[in-house]
Amino acid sequence: MWPSSSPSSASGPAVKACGLREIDRLFRKAGLVRSLHGKAGARNPKSNHFNRAAQEELFHPAPSPRVAANGVEWLAVSGWEKIPWLWHGFSTRRGGLSRAYCTEDAPGEMNLGFTAGDSRENVACNRSLLAEAVTGNAATPLVAIRQFHSNLVHVATVTDAARERPWKADGLIANEPGLLLGIQTADCIPVLVADRKRRVVAAFHAGWRGTVKRIVELGIGRMRLAFGCRPEDMIAVIGPGVGACCYAVGEEVLSEFESQFQYARELFHEVYSTDVVRAKYPMLFLTQRAPGHSPIGPELHLNLVEANRRQLLAAGLKPRAIQAVGGCTSCQPELFFSHRASHGHAGRMLAVIGIRPPPR
Ligand SMILES: [Zn+2]
Repeated sequence: MWPSSSPSSASGPAVKACGLREIDRLFRKAGLVRSLHGKAGARNPKSNHFNRAAQEELFHPAPSPRVAANGVEWLAVSGWEKIPWLWHGFSTRRGGLSRAYCTEDAPGEMNLGFTAGDSRENVACNRSLLAEAVTGNAATPLVAIRQFHSNLVHVATVTDAARERPWKADGLIANEPGLLLGIQTADCIPVLVADRKRRVVAAFHAGWRGTVKRIVELGIGRMRLAFGCRPEDMIAVIGPGVGACCYAVGEEVLSEFESQFQYARELFHEVYSTDVVRAKYPMLFLTQRAPGHSPIGPELHLNLVEANRRQLLAAGLKPRAIQAVGGCTSCQPELFFSHRASHGHAGRMLAVIGIRPPPR
């Protein structure tokens, strides 16, 4: 199930994908304790039931984007902007040159992934525009990776930005100033982490598969091993992705989470339709089928933001050190690309983080 090979670089090998026991071993080696209460996979008897919610209740709006001088609209995190050495940002679809995913009369868009439907020139130019918006310099090197829903984490250096074939991984860590680490998403959750004391940054790609493989917990253990980072010195932000409002999943996703997390059921909601006819004639819509499977019963929705917040807490971050940007890629198509909402025909956004070089 886990990939057996891992990329490596001069700065050190990437973490090998591994199972839960290996993650525990990594944490012990790094002097960390995962704050799990009880065995993984053991179900908490208190949380046998799902939280019920209406779809609207699960929606958390994103803040208004900032508009850069070059037209790029991007999201910054309140509080993080005051940290002078830190670069960070989440792109939206607004700005840029791509025309592959919009109507003919629409302005160009910020597709930042080398997708089949778009030209490499447009994407490269959009990446420079984002670097310019976030760092003030369009030439700031950007390290991106070939993401494949793993828990591989790569320690990046500036030479990685020039690689023809990017590393295969789903997380990046760096302590070298002057480069941006980038995670591409179009529904999956990007998570950015910074160690304020040691000036180390990290970016992780957490869809449901990567979340089940504990990419964020593992990545924080890796930050400790590579650079001596301590979770109590870290801050983290969970970027925009498909929200709990829209992320209906099947029972197989639930059982994967239940096999890994004792709090799994707290990450799912039973969502009932607020359709007027259903509200008036509920007897017409009675069903005996399991949640998540019935076309007319409640749907099972996964909250990936909460799932990754729990991993940050389990890794030892303080609750107040963790923020979420908000927004839902699926129900805000005017602001974000969504793989789900556009049936696979979508651009990619980038979440970026980096260390500003000291002034010369
Ligand atoms: Zn939504």
